[in-house]
Amino acid sequence: MKLGVYIHVPFCRRKCDYCSFYSVPVDTLSPEGRAGLEAYTRTIISEASMRLPQLPGAVIDTVYFGGGTPSMLEPRQVENVLSSLRGWADVEPGAEVTIEVNPEDSGKVSAFRDAGASRAVLGIQTFDPGMHRAIGRSSSLCGDDHLDSFFSVKGIVHCADMIAGIPGQDRAGLVAGLDRLCSLGAKHLSVYLLSIEKSTPLASRMKPGPGAGEEQRALFEAVMDFLAGRGFSHYEISNFAIPGFESRHNMKYWKFMPYLGLGPGAHSFIDGRRIMNVTGAVEYACSGGFSYEEDVRGKNSAAVEYLMTGLRLLEGVSVGDMESRAGFRLTPGMLARIDSLEKRGLVAVSGTGVDMTVRLSREGIFLSDGVIYEIVEELL
Ligand code: SF4
Repeated sequence: MKLGVYIHVPFCRRKCDYCSFYSVPVDTLSPEGRAGLEAYTRTIISEASMRLPQLPGAVIDTVYFGGGTPSMLEPRQVENVLSSLRGWADVEPGAEVTIEVNPEDSGKVSAFRDAGASRAVLGIQTFDPGMHRAIGRSSSLCGDDHLDSFFSVKGIVHCADMIAGIPGQDRAGLVAGLDRLCSLGAKHLSVYLLSIEKSTPLASRMKPGPGAGEEQRALFEAVMDFLAGRGFSHYEISNFAIPGFESRHNMKYWKFMPYLGLGPGAHSFIDGRRIMNVTGAVEYACSGGFSYEEDVRGKNSAAVEYLMTGLRLLEGVSVGDMESRAGFRLTPGMLARIDSLEKRGLVAVSGTGVDMTVRLSREGIFLSDGVIYEIVEELL
C-alpha cells in the first residue's frame, strides 16, 4: 500500500486574526518554547513507532509537514522525524516531502532541504502591507530578503500560498505578486479566497459588504487567467501547478487514497476507516499520550465525502472510480440533478456508464459549494 504521512505541527508564534484553525502559540525564542517543540518532536516519533508497524507493507511515497507553522521546527527535528519514518516503514526513493514555511523562517529552507524536504511552501498570503494589516496576518510580511533566501535554494520545488478576495484588494497588485513568484520559479501556487469565519477576531471588524462576492470573483478570475497564461494548470479549486508539479500528497485527500496523520487533531484514512487523534496539543507534547476516535461512516457517507473532495479536482470524478473507491453508484435522483446542473452550465459531463465523468465548469468553480451540495444533498 502506498501511504502518505501527514505530520501536524499545531503551533504558531502568534495567532492570525482570520485563522479559525486550532493552534497553540509558542515562543520559539524562550527555552520553554524550544523544549516544548523538542518534546513534541519526540512524541511524533513515538506515535510513528507505534502506528507504522500496524501497517505492514506500507510504502510511504509522500510526507507533509503542515500546521500551524511547521517551519518553527529545527531542521534537525524534521530530519529526526523523517529518519524515524524510515525506521518503521519503507520510504519510496524520490518520495515527495513537503514543509510549509513562514517568511521569517525562509532562511531555514536550505537546511530543511538537507534534512530531506523536496518541496517548500512559502506562506506569503499577500505582499501588500495594507492587506497584511487588514487581515491581521501574524507572520512577517514577505519582503525581498525572504524571497531571496527562499528562491535561491536549489534542489527543492518552490511553492507559495496566497490569499485573494480581501475587501479592497487591488487586482493589479495581486497579479503583480503572482507574476513575481512565477518569474522567481514558483512551480505550485495555492490561492485561497478569504473566508471571514465567525468567531475569529477578523469577523468582528470586517463585514463583507454588498458586492463582495462579485469583487472576489473578479479577483479570482484575474488569478485564473493570469496563471493560465503563465503555463499553470488549474487542477483543484484553489491550486495551480506547472504540469508535473501538482501536490502528490494533497491528491491523496482529494482522491480518497490512504494516509496516516501524526499529531494531535491529525486525521488518518486507511482501509476506508477514518481515524482522528483527539489528544490536545499541549497534552500530546507533555505526556506523549494518544487518544483516537474513529469516524464510522456508512456507504452513503463515503460517497458524500468522495464527491465533496473529488469534485474539487477540476478533472472531476468518474463513475467507475467512485464505484471502486467509495463502493457507490450514482442514484437516478443524483443523475437527474447532474443533468439539471449541466443544463445550467455549472458542470460538464462526458462519457457514459462507468466512463461518465462529471467536472465543475468555469462558472461552477465560483459556485462550487452549492453545486457539490446539490449533487450530494439526496444522500444527506
Ligand atoms: S500562521 Fe497559519 S495556522 Fe498559524 S495562526 Fe496564522 S493562519 Fe493560522
